[in-house]
Amino acid sequence: MTAAAPPDQLKFLGTAGARHVVATQLRHSGGLVYTLSGFRLWVDPGPGALVRALASRPKVDPARMDALLITHRHLDHAGDATAVVEAMTGGGFAPRATLFAPSDALEEDAVVFRYAQGFVRDVQRLREGGSYPLAPGVTLATPLAHDHGVETYGYRLHAPGCTIGHVVDTFWLDALPDAYAAVDVLLVNTTRLAGGDRRLLHLGADDAERLIAAVRPRLAVLTHFGMQLVRQGPERVALAIAERTGVPTLAARDGQALPLPPPAAVAASSTLACSTPGTRPPPSARCGCSFRPRRRAHTAPRGRW
Ligand SMILES: [Zn+2]
Repeated sequence: MTAAAPPDQLKFLGTAGARHVVATQLRHSGGLVYTLSGFRLWVDPGPGALVRALASRPKVDPARMDALLITHRHLDHAGDATAVVEAMTGGGFAPRATLFAPSDALEEDAVVFRYAQGFVRDVQRLREGGSYPLAPGVTLATPLAHDHGVETYGYRLHAPGCTIGHVVDTFWLDALPDAYAAVDVLLVNTTRLAGGDRRLLHLGADDAERLIAAVRPRLAVLTHFGMQLVRQGPERVALAIAERTGVPTLAARDGQALPLPPPAAVAASSTLACSTPGTRPPPSARCGCSFRPRRRAHTAPRGRW
């Protein structure tokens, strides 16, 4: 951390989700890098993360990271984790930074190779209900264990002037809206168009819409797109959600840097062609997205799952 703190922001080194988009790199899989009050946190470095960071402009310098967070041990979230740890720590010769990860990502199927786990200054095992101070005024919290087949935690970041929630991979849980309530920015890993498939344990755009409508953040951001979303056009899906919920909603783009808190203009741009609650936009301004949720949010009980 330096005396003159860089501006708070979230940089998307990738927006890919699940195996096919990652394997083809139709979207990158480098994860997210937050800068909050000078504290730099890298989340979920999938395959190619180190290359994406170094190729990014301005460059994301791994040696300046203060922490690495792995939400779970799937390839698209942790494929480059050991490479990032080595880059963060000068190949292990400059022990520093903190590694946050579920226990099963460190022990059972170590996605940071065991020899490299000793390169960081501190290792924190994530747990449901955990709270971890990062810097003065900046806290990481893991309110809820997600339903994703392996130990998985979404997270909240509390920083001066902005609270962020990131709902990472999970099957729908009725506890999600409360766990991520009252955030300014809500990120949702929106891997499929329709959720509800227990074989896949991912949220669909219908789930994302239900969650966004319940949480009502200042800005919602969809990311972690699977092939269905990429083909449909994430921007169209986001616009349709914004139109129906009245909540400004963006689809993240590879390389995008989102200022935190997001300026009003960013939120406004995401609703440019959308209705505000209680009004309808002129036909020429509507997004025309064909995406429609399989179920209407808040109407059908989801007991069959
Ligand atoms: Zn996953």
